Amino acid sequence: MRTVFFNGRVYTGGWPLASAFAVDGDEFIFAGGDAEALALARPEDGRVDLGGRFVCAGFNDSHMHLLSYGLALRRAKLNEHTGSLKDLVDYFRGFAANGPNERGWLVGRGWNQDLFSDTRRMPNRFDLDEVSREYPVAAVRCCGHCAVVNSKAIELLGLAADTKVPGNGVIGAENGEPDGRLYEEAIGLIWAGMPQVGKEDVKDMIRAACRRYSACGVTSCQSDDYATPWRMVNEAYRELIAAGELTVRVNEQCNFGDAGSLMEFIGAGNAPGTGDNMFRVGPLKMVADGSLGSRTAFMSRPYADDPSTRGVAVYSQETLDEVIGCAHERGMNVAIHAIGDACLDRVLNAVEKAMAKHPRADCRHGIVHCQITRRDQLERMARLNMHIYAQTVFLDYDSRIVRARVGDLADTSYSWKTLMNMGLTVSNGTDCPVELPDALRGIQCAVTRAPLSGGEPYLPGEAFTVREALDSYTSAGARASFEENRKGRIAPGMLADFVVLGGNPFDTPAEELSRIPVRETWLGGRRVYAAD
Ligand SMILES: [Zn+2]
Repeated sequence: MRTVFFNGRVYTGGWPLASAFAVDGDEFIFAGGDAEALALARPEDGRVDLGGRFVCAGFNDSHMHLLSYGLALRRAKLNEHTGSLKDLVDYFRGFAANGPNERGWLVGRGWNQDLFSDTRRMPNRFDLDEVSREYPVAAVRCCGHCAVVNSKAIELLGLAADTKVPGNGVIGAENGEPDGRLYEEAIGLIWAGMPQVGKEDVKDMIRAACRRYSACGVTSCQSDDYATPWRMVNEAYRELIAAGELTVRVNEQCNFGDAGSLMEFIGAGNAPGTGDNMFRVGPLKMVADGSLGSRTAFMSRPYADDPSTRGVAVYSQETLDEVIGCAHERGMNVAIHAIGDACLDRVLNAVEKAMAKHPRADCRHGIVHCQITRRDQLERMARLNMHIYAQTVFLDYDSRIVRARVGDLADTSYSWKTLMNMGLTVSNGTDCPVELPDALRGIQCAVTRAPLSGGEPYLPGEAFTVREALDSYTSAGARASFEENRKGRIAPGMLADFVVLGGNPFDTPAEELSRIPVRETWLGGRRVYAAD
């Protein structure tokens, strides 16, 4: 079956815009003008009048967490009810009426006591006892560094004020009894105390996340999911694909923190690139430092607004050398989370050593986030031909805090346009569930370099053109996964993944780009989302 789409404004990835394209099976067979396209339609074929609408290749979210997003969608959205402690408890109690939402627990996230109008204190066990006495309840603070549980949870977890906790964890106490507040690594006691997650659960989470992704026009994602055991994750994906339920192509960013686990994974039939167009083994993923917002990104000098800290390095140089070297030697690429410049130094050291020891023809090693950078590091990344997994939507918040956090390092940070001009490929994404999986928000920030609500641009010289922003969300993402000849453009032989928008980004004011609605999403010639 062939379908011809005509009378559109079609960004194929080339210039100028085309008006038509044709799809046969799951591939594009033509892109160009209306007359030529319509001549390809046989009597039995479909013809779709695009009515002047804008079409481009489906979006590729090049770093995110599909499973975590599915989980986040199930959780009580406490961030929307944090105006007062009373509102928080009332909302959560209403949510609890539907029963547990996560492995027998009631879990919510997003409260912030700084925003309460009725009290300044954090919630405690007794507040959450008002939510439920029957089920265990956990409410994670917006930052993720504190969580509160109710009395039922304290009982189930067997917590006492003197319970031993790992690392820097703290169990809050009042009068020698736990007050329900768990800090830092003590939060892990909650997840460890829950029943094991099951494969059907995992499939449900992926299904829920897929629906939202399709509604955002995203047809490919590069997802870090192995916080859940990889065997279960891979099986869940395989079964969803067999049932035709996966509506987003997944390139797995395989998260392993040590060489032994990585080798076991590869040895179990997961050589780099194993898979098909729907699910494929992608790069090694490691998280090498924290975040700028929480001042845990690992910096070469103290934070400008908190001289007591330089952030946290998750791995030593030796560990990064070993694990990155192990992946590189086995033909696997790496995608390493690095936000602070001291962290980036370590990652680039490891990549450089691996490449010197085992020269490889087509390395596409990448830095995920790549936020705080020095000029010498931009040049070093260009020499190493790194791939950059950027999240331009982070500028919505970070553009307001970066200078206060890092001082004049801000002058050479978030410098993705400079890297692009040096010849590097910069792909875009959301790190969802950190941000919503909405590509147009990222496209707006890439072009404006400012908060979505407006305001001062940060390093306006680093702004992308609309075309660069679209490319970062389509063809550049495809290159990261070695699929630039299969997707990311509308051209013969490419997978027919495309999105129909309610506005043309090329003639929309920059500050309104995020408001362009997604009308339809097509994956491999099949429509997987329609707005009406
Ligand atoms: Zn991430």
